[in-house]
Amino acid sequence: MSFSSFKLHPQIEARIKALGYDAPTHIQRQAIPPVLAGKDVMGLAQTGTGKTAAFVLPIIQHLLPGPRGNVRSLIIAPTRELAEQIHVSIGELGRNTHLKSCAIYGGIAVNPQIKKLRAGVDIIVACPGRLLDHLGQQTIDLANLEILVIDEADRMFDMGFLPDIRRIIKQVPVKRQTLMFSATMPDSIRKLTNEVLNDPVTVKVGHTAPANTVSHALYPVAPHLKTKLLIELLTQTDTESILVFTKTKHRAKRIGQELQKAGYAAASLQGNLSQNRRQEALDGFRNGSYQVLVATDIAARGIDVLSISHVINYDMPDTTDAYTHRIGRTGRAAKTGDAFTFISKEDEQQVANIERVLGGKIERRTLEGFDYKQPPPERSTEFSRPPRPPQRRKAGPEPQLANPPREAQPKPRSLSPSAPKPCASPPARTASPSAAKRRYNKTKRGKYPTRKNT
Ligand code: AMP
Repeated sequence: MSFSSFKLHPQIEARIKALGYDAPTHIQRQAIPPVLAGKDVMGLAQTGTGKTAAFVLPIIQHLLPGPRGNVRSLIIAPTRELAEQIHVSIGELGRNTHLKSCAIYGGIAVNPQIKKLRAGVDIIVACPGRLLDHLGQQTIDLANLEILVIDEADRMFDMGFLPDIRRIIKQVPVKRQTLMFSATMPDSIRKLTNEVLNDPVTVKVGHTAPANTVSHALYPVAPHLKTKLLIELLTQTDTESILVFTKTKHRAKRIGQELQKAGYAAASLQGNLSQNRRQEALDGFRNGSYQVLVATDIAARGIDVLSISHVINYDMPDTTDAYTHRIGRTGRAAKTGDAFTFISKEDEQQVANIERVLGGKIERRTLEGFDYKQPPPERSTEFSRPPRPPQRRKAGPEPQLANPPREAQPKPRSLSPSAPKPCASPPARTASPSAAKRRYNKTKRGKYPTRKNT
């Protein structure tokens, strides 16, 4: 099958050619015809399958002949990075069409967004929080909306955005076309599907197993040797761009620094960074100035860098879906990639779960010449966190990805960039075991909301 069978506008076909897409991917073959026919679609596909173009191409085709300057399509994405990437894809695929797209997300000033919106846009790509802010202030009008896309719906749920999605849906016309994409189909998403899609066509690419262009290997290693092993592995392996995943923001930052010390062009991407610094890290990774990017799951969501040759799980992800999402960063489109995961004893159950999804055993490897017997330092300082006094939140824009799930914090919305957004502070961390125990007990009693590490 070729792109010409979709009978897209010659201008769009020219862009597809210019971008070097020879043939539609599996999800594009399945999703583009029903979307072009105006049907609601539920697409089960992970990132790396070409799903963005599967909805962007038909949207451009649909909007091309119509009037300009009204929001006729809205794409909702869970993270700023993904929203930015979709916005960039629209720019690439829709070049010369004079359709205007605008990315709307928090963590950056609102006034430039308002200015762009006032000038008239046809497509909005937005994260739920800032979009609701704009809707509340009537700086976005969705009365003319024709196509709504909810991308990465399962991740939206993980991040606590479903109540926001429902609020947004109340503000869009009932008569519309709705497309929803998700890598997995938990009950929460099935329920949402029934609420928002009308007689949908379901299309899917395989299942939630990682793309088969990725080969997997496990590296059993003691926790105190992980950083040394990582550096040694990078030295011995022929790599292009490498994405390293950690469990916490703190670790992402520390490992980024350790790699820099070891001479690698490395950066970290985690929820504590300002939007500018995140963008700088991402741009540097994309253009090759940084060879290694160390990231947390949520911060790395949707990273679209074709030259990622290796994904290294410094820490085992919490769920098999998180593994799938991480691994989806490599082996994208037609390329191949390697996924290395550092494991210790307590990860065995999770390894078994992943092997079940993959449908076979993953190879265990040891790195030649690496001294696995090195004892832990007297008192391991690796990742021990200095005591931190209780912190008060500073007024200012809330880093969106560091938010606790939104259900936990219904709040009045204000577009004032300086207005502090209420956010439950995490308990202050302390090295004192008794304080840690007190904190644990409090958490157990449910005093503190759970908070995602981004
Ligand atoms: P996505 O799953 O949308 O994140 O896309 C993954 C990558 O595949 C992106 O870099 C796209 O530019 C690329 N891509 C999308 N469609 C095609 C295609 N038909 N042929 C080759 N590459 C593609």
